[in-house]
Amino acid sequence: MYYNSLIETLGNTPLVRLNSVSNGVKGTILVKVEYFNPGNSMKDRMALKMIEDAEDAGILKPGGTIIEGTSGNTGMGLALAAISKGYKCIFTLADKQSQEKIDILRAVGAEVIVCPTNVPPEDPKSYYSVAQKLNKEIPNSFYPNQYDNLSNTKAHYETTGPEIWEQTEGKITHYAAGVGTGGSMCGVSKYLKEQNPEIISVGIDTYGSVFKHYKETGNFDENEIYPYLTEGIGEDILPKNVDFSLIDTFVKVTDKDGAIMTRRLAREEGLFVGWSSGSAVQGALDYAREHLQENDIMVIILPDHGTRYLGKIYNDNWMKDHGFLEQREFATAKDIIS
Ligand code: PMP
Repeated sequence: MYYNSLIETLGNTPLVRLNSVSNGVKGTILVKVEYFNPGNSMKDRMALKMIEDAEDAGILKPGGTIIEGTSGNTGMGLALAAISKGYKCIFTLADKQSQEKIDILRAVGAEVIVCPTNVPPEDPKSYYSVAQKLNKEIPNSFYPNQYDNLSNTKAHYETTGPEIWEQTEGKITHYAAGVGTGGSMCGVSKYLKEQNPEIISVGIDTYGSVFKHYKETGNFDENEIYPYLTEGIGEDILPKNVDFSLIDTFVKVTDKDGAIMTRRLAREEGLFVGWSSGSAVQGALDYAREHLQENDIMVIILPDHGTRYLGKIYNDNWMKDHGFLEQREFATAKDIIS
């Protein structure tokens, strides 16, 4: 038994019950562990779908170059699919992204261009603008644009949603996910609500992002936009993949609360996951504490793996420097000797 290429191992990730961090919450809390995908994140799913749809539409031709503005995981998914299909990859990303993410992309043969984080999207130096410029200049290049490319949502509608429905035997009552491009939240939510319109979808947002306020007021308020550290969720734009009618409510989570919950998931559940996973669980449990009943079943998406965050939230000194920890939790030899 073997696969013809790594990308065939995509999907069918496990659903696992939380046993410790969910203490005191009514109902069953399950997490979909997306780091089991070949590129260690759920973004493998939409990356492959964007490429296949572009091939079908004749936009991406043999020998082409894929250019994308990506926070890392989409890049990894695109790079793996590109290897098996013979495309080149160039990625632009913001300099707040972890060095590990940049190094991983380079390791799998992609060219990576690092752009400043704190400039508006329309600034020519932003990672959105640089990707668009390269796309115009490089012949036979394809710019997937994960924010507005609806193949993103479709990938989760066709794979993640049905997997969750089958794994819970149709008993899921609540679905929670962080919202970045919106693809995973809205693709899964659309599929689940078509099976059972009673299912409630909870979107997790960051402080510094526009989503929650926009959902509640219909206004795009620039005052909601300010720098934050959590990677992968929250936005300063309204991507086409975010369909607000498919998200019942939003919960905001601070950088600190998300980081601390991520570390708890690793230590108490053995789930060595990325920062946005902690944010999703923190926000989902805040919601669950108030709203879930004994028979409810909530599924939370955990988007990626912890390796990419070793130098940040899994590093005590980094946590302390950012005011997220009072003191280091691990002793050094010096602490023991003195
Ligand atoms: N977490 C991480 C680590 C991500 O890379 C992303 C993708 N931006 C998300 C969460 C949010 O997922 P989506 O783009 O499907 O909204």
